Amino acid sequence: MTIRNRIALQFSLIVASILVIFSVLIYVVSATYRREEFYDRLKNKGRTTVRFLVEVKEVDQTLLKIIDRNTLTALFDEKVLIFDEHNQLIYSSVDDQVIDYSPALLTEVRREKDIETHSGSNELVGLLYRQNGRDLVILASAYDQFGRSKLANLRLTLGWGLLVGLSVTIGLGIFFAGQSLRPISQLNEQVTTITAGNLQRRLDEGNRQDEIARLAINVNDLLRRLEQAFEQQRSFVSQTSHELRTPLAALKSEIQLGLLHPLTVAEHETILQNLLSDADRLIGLTNSLLQLARTLETIDQLPRHPIRTDDSLFAARDELTAARPQYQIDIDYGNIPESETETLVAGNDDLLKQVFINLLDNACKYSPDHTARVRISTDNTHCHIAVSDRGIGLTPEEITRIFEPFYRATTALDYPGFGIGLSITARLIQLHHGTLSVKSEPGQGSTFTVSLPHL
Ligand code: ADP
Repeated sequence: MTIRNRIALQFSLIVASILVIFSVLIYVVSATYRREEFYDRLKNKGRTTVRFLVEVKEVDQTLLKIIDRNTLTALFDEKVLIFDEHNQLIYSSVDDQVIDYSPALLTEVRREKDIETHSGSNELVGLLYRQNGRDLVILASAYDQFGRSKLANLRLTLGWGLLVGLSVTIGLGIFFAGQSLRPISQLNEQVTTITAGNLQRRLDEGNRQDEIARLAINVNDLLRRLEQAFEQQRSFVSQTSHELRTPLAALKSEIQLGLLHPLTVAEHETILQNLLSDADRLIGLTNSLLQLARTLETIDQLPRHPIRTDDSLFAARDELTAARPQYQIDIDYGNIPESETETLVAGNDDLLKQVFINLLDNACKYSPDHTARVRISTDNTHCHIAVSDRGIGLTPEEITRIFEPFYRATTALDYPGFGIGLSITARLIQLHHGTLSVKSEPGQGSTFTVSLPHL
């Protein structure tokens, strides 16, 4: 069942229940009121009749019958019977028909003094009338033709009202549910037109206020992020091919040179040396690419443990200086951590070490003195590791781009590298819920600060 029909059905059920309850209530109250009123009229009739008979000397039975029959307020099928203390009928307003009564009924009237009951479809009241020590019983009965026909009319009106009300409710329910869900149908239609090829399309955000508009805004945000991711992917692939093409082209021209004409052993050796260095560069590049791909793909499944950042930093320094003995790395503490946990972070040891290796390597690589200074400091929430150098530095414009894969500042082109390390580093820090900030002055040096939330 569609949401539109479900809402319409629920709406109709609620309104229908209210209408039915309301109608039944009106009918029951009206029926009760009619009965009460009619009983009152019957009692009045009975009392008037007995008073005429017993208290007004001038009125005898015959006159009373004539009055009864000709009175304007006579009720339909009206009968009044009066019994003496021995249950002998002493007056009957009609002779041809009698009220269906039994001695038990008369006894009950004497006991209860006032009873309201039925005789077939007629209402019947019984009253005890005390006069000069005589206990007379009056039975008055009539058919409430006027009241009952009013009630039948009411029944008919309520029935039709209910039917019409329900039909209108169902119609309006379907109409309004359709109206309020129309923006969703429109969104639906717009979403189906969006494919990987036209991710720049956006959904109509309507009034930007209601729930559906907010859904459209969120989907648009999602599309924006997807578009960016697709764009990054596209430029990553084209940059990667470009980066791979350069050393491959160099390899090819070296080989062509070797095949051109007979060469001396020394010339062969030079060509082989060049081939080796190009192959090394290719291996280095593919390794970096592989690392970047792995970082992006499998990182979320990697186990995380409490790790001491300073331990990880010392391990990174040892590994780096073992591979490049010319590097000098000095580590000190900005403040003494108040507790052990201030340098403890939840993370992955190898990846955190990779972060520090990348930053330390850059600091030493891009400084003439090949020296990096590291300062560890902590506060209530974070552990900060600042890696500084007195190297070539970066302009503010370059700082905004150095985290893009393959980006290298022009001043860095004389140094070995592929422009991938920092994009991996930034991603790894982000996965450790940390931040990386950069301060740099061209020609003066740079400081890269990693801030990680500690345990
Ligand atoms: P790579 O060092 O291999 O070029 P990275 O991704 O590590 O790649 O760095 C990207 C760019 O950021 C570098 O090419 C360089 O221009 C700049 N950079 C990174 N670290 C430093 C630094 N400590 N001093 C100056 N420039 C830096």
